[in-house]
Amino acid sequence: MTSKWIVHKFGGTSVADADRYRAAAEIVLPHASDERVAIVVSAMSGVTNGLIHAVELAASRDESYANKLQELLTRHLETIEKLTPTQSASLRETIISDFKAIEEVLRGVWITRIPSERITEFVAGHGELWSAQMLHAYLEANGHSSTWLDARTVLIVEPDSNTVVIDWKLSQENVNLWQADCPNTNFVVITGYVAATHDGSATTLKRNGSDLSASIFAALLDADSVTIWTDVDGVYSADPRRVPDAIVIPELSYQEAAELAYFGAKVIHPNTMSPAIAKNITVWIKNSFKPEAPGTRISSSSSSDLPIKGFAAVENMALINVEGTGMIGVPGVAHKLFGALRAVGVSIVMISQASSEHSICFAVPSAHALLAKKTIEEIFFAELQRGEVQTVDLRESCCILAMVGEGMIERLGMAGQFFSALGKAGVNVRAIAQGSSERNISAVIEQHEATKALRALHSAFYLSSQTLSIGVIGAGLIGGTFLDQLTARVQELRTERGIDLRVRGIMNSRKMILHDGQFLLDGWRNELDQSSSDADIEQFVNHVHAEHLPHAVIVDATASADLPKHYESWVSRGINIITPNKQSNSGPLASYVSLRNAARKHQRYFLYETNVGAGLPIIHTLRGLIETGDQIIKIEGVLSGTLSYILNSFDGTRTFSEIVREAHQLGLTEPDPRLDLSGVDVARKLIILAREMGLQVEMDAVEVESMVPEDLRSATLEEYLNTLGKHDHAIADRLDSARATGNVLRYVGVINNDGSMSAGLRTYPLDHPFASLKGSDNIVSFQTARYNTQPMIVRGPGAGPEVTAAGVFADLLRLASFLGAPQ
Ligand code: ADP
Ligand code: ASP
Ligand code: MG
Repeated sequence: MTSKWIVHKFGGTSVADADRYRAAAEIVLPHASDERVAIVVSAMSGVTNGLIHAVELAASRDESYANKLQELLTRHLETIEKLTPTQSASLRETIISDFKAIEEVLRGVWITRIPSERITEFVAGHGELWSAQMLHAYLEANGHSSTWLDARTVLIVEPDSNTVVIDWKLSQENVNLWQADCPNTNFVVITGYVAATHDGSATTLKRNGSDLSASIFAALLDADSVTIWTDVDGVYSADPRRVPDAIVIPELSYQEAAELAYFGAKVIHPNTMSPAIAKNITVWIKNSFKPEAPGTRISSSSSSDLPIKGFAAVENMALINVEGTGMIGVPGVAHKLFGALRAVGVSIVMISQASSEHSICFAVPSAHALLAKKTIEEIFFAELQRGEVQTVDLRESCCILAMVGEGMIERLGMAGQFFSALGKAGVNVRAIAQGSSERNISAVIEQHEATKALRALHSAFYLSSQTLSIGVIGAGLIGGTFLDQLTARVQELRTERGIDLRVRGIMNSRKMILHDGQFLLDGWRNELDQSSSDADIEQFVNHVHAEHLPHAVIVDATASADLPKHYESWVSRGINIITPNKQSNSGPLASYVSLRNAARKHQRYFLYETNVGAGLPIIHTLRGLIETGDQIIKIEGVLSGTLSYILNSFDGTRTFSEIVREAHQLGLTEPDPRLDLSGVDVARKLIILAREMGLQVEMDAVEVESMVPEDLRSATLEEYLNTLGKHDHAIADRLDSARATGNVLRYVGVINNDGSMSAGLRTYPLDHPFASLKGSDNIVSFQTARYNTQPMIVRGPGAGPEVTAAGVFADLLRLASFLGAPQ
């Protein structure tokens, strides 16, 4: 058999129950043919916590420590029963007797109320002892050659404040002796976390120390690699529980991994890398629930060219600021300060750089905060009395945020981007530090802002700037068609143009659906039908305005007069808006102006090309003319698809009322056709265009000719449709007189450069472009200084769900371009 070792380590969740032990065995079995496999195990998940808790209970005279122990014992016995039902007797006995011993120790703690650190260390490590024996028993019971090793018999360390110092020489000798003696089995199951001190006491490598055990044993056994099996796919760009969009980093250098771990990426213990660096051992982080996933490779170089690898946050920090004029230029102040803190065992996690020596600012774990403050006040007692040190300021509930990546060294502007992302997210930075390695930038912020900050940073550095969180309100004809069009294009837009459109919410007047991950738009109709969430605009908007995505946009595909009341607050919160809804732009001028001011102030976009002429580029064209310095002399157009249809069809062969009824039946009118025939819709569009031209006008500035006879304006819809015929003669007369002079009749909106506006019936000669309109075509003629004798004409279908939805879609892509998407 080969004498080459490979090390696999299974964390608590990877050995949480009998099934997980089986899965762990499945993972290592194939390796045994080529190498000897050392399997380092954690305690079953929750066991270390349970044991430490039992000690604390006993020390505080809480009898329930015994129940806690009983619970843990039962869990182990049940797991053994499931794992090795027939051969478990001796292991059962061992574990029962260990629990008895622990119970006696805790009885002593209960009586004396003294939980010595040594006792806690002794008790806490038992989870690993049991776990190793259980996996070993399972392997043996299934016919594999296995042995197990109690790390306390070989691994010698000395505790040193929050960590341990490894006696490499002695540990190596011990391991060599053990190897010489041990049976040449395929598998050796080794207890993680535990070790012994020089005087032979049981100790541990401190919380989460099994990762370190694994790399220590990899070094001692001269293994080429160590694989750390956990419950996530690798090291993520940020804690995946906090940042839903985090992705697995394929490769990290040892230093990058160590910094991420040091700054809170719990997936790996920060000290794990030192033994690996010394012996150039490759460390893999992989998911025991998904062994086929590639995982993260940690080695001496990371070939990936990402300048930033990831983000992490250390919580429960306190920030201490020592300030005083007496500190300027006085040598040794920092030395005195940090020396005193070290002496009382306070660990300093980060020191902020400041070019002035006026103050020293640093972060310590919350648990050490009061001790640190007290110590500083003691050692600087005289300076405080003399006023040379003025304040020792303690700020609790802080968190250190770190950005890690080797590529930072070569690239300019990373720090700028880091702080501007935090600033944009409204996160307050209390202190800053940049490691001298330039491998990390860290900042102290308030703890309650940690998730928001991580998400903002992640989106600024990791996501394409064209990642849009989209909420669609209104899933009727236009909203529904828009969603269908998006469904058909979303994939190509992502792959071909890098525009990442994520519909994360759809709402109609009754229900809504909210999504976080990848949403398969395909089934949106069914899903909305079956949704059990009632429509809730606040909740909807909050969800769409996700912190972890760079941009949010709400598409208001309704005709509601209420939704526009929210627009200003949405843009002020940083949400872009796209809408075919005319209510906002034709509403009171004051709200119109204030919405634009808010959008400008917050640098958000409000796009509404479909307000006039559906998908036709009318607003866009007008803006282009004005912005390039042209002067508008007159805008004239057939702006209502409905009225266009009705008047295009009104050629004398059928009565006007017949045509209105037909248009109504074909769904070409509003449910009540009077809304179209009154001319209000045309007036709204005129106001929108006039305001684009810079005219400060309200709706009542438009002189509107209504085509609804006065006596039918307040009639019921049925009455109106049934009796409209009695007015046919009046409109027939208008048509006849128009035709008598070789003209046609059109319902037209006009804006003159003096600001006068009208909407009404006009006549046009047969060779005029307005005369040849078809169906529900719109046409707009822009007469300008440049396009004077020959006006610029935009013409085409100006109504209908397909073209309107496409117009909304075009606005969405325009938004993506404004946000930086390549054309
Ligand atoms: P184990 O029991 O296997 O040792 P841990 O709970 O100690 O597992 O570590 C894994 C957990 O670390 C993950 O479930 C994840 O929630 C958390 N975590 C925090 N930051 C990161 C990160 N950057 N990448 C991956 N996991 C992370
Ligand atoms: N079981 C120990 C703990 O929970 C060690 C580890 O799992 O890494 O801290
Ligand atoms: Mg762990």
